[in-house]
Amino acid sequence: MKIIIGKGIRIEKIDKLLLWYYDRTFDNFMNYIGKKYSRLIIKNISNQVINGYSRKIAICNCSCGLENKEIRLDGILEGAVKSCGCYSTEVKKQKKKAPNPILDLRKRLLNSAKVRANKNNLKFNITIDDIIIPSKCPAIDIKIFKAGKEATYNSPALDKIIPSKGYVKGNVEVISHRGNNLKTNMNIDEITKLVKYLRKMKLKGYDV
Ligand SMILES: [Zn+2]
Repeated sequence: MKIIIGKGIRIEKIDKLLLWYYDRTFDNFMNYIGKKYSRLIIKNISNQVINGYSRKIAICNCSCGLENKEIRLDGILEGAVKSCGCYSTEVKKQKKKAPNPILDLRKRLLNSAKVRANKNNLKFNITIDDIIIPSKCPAIDIKIFKAGKEATYNSPALDKIIPSKGYVKGNVEVISHRGNNLKTNMNIDEITKLVKYLRKMKLKGYDV
């Protein structure tokens, strides 16, 4: 019998495979009955023909309480199958349970900046590490947070300090959506003039 061992195969796996081939030769499968592999206990073994090949199917009870689950014996012996499926379900649930909203938000800011850079032919060399979300907007001093799907004044926005330079390292800062809109719509000269005008109006008694 020729066994081809793939690249990167672990020694325990080879041991199990050898045992598997040895036992197949001697048709000695019943030895596995009653044994425990991770969460599975093999209660019985049957022979089934799957796609023209004879396969040994283990009938297992799982430690989660599920009984008589049919699983391919070689999968169990190789360590590829550890449970009735409950283990991977638990892992998936745990991943869902532990979301990282800040990291997700940073990723979203990065991805949408990338889309805009492509669309507007801007330079782009920033990574996730360049996206730091402060608790307060450095431009207009309001809190930065994301609530719901729609953008609000307080949503984070990735600002290009000098717009024509694009999304390049050292030229981006997370500010509030409101701050970003104001900055986009007015230049420093206009803002200075506007402030001067509003101060004058206030002095005249207008509630501006
Ligand atoms: Zn289970």
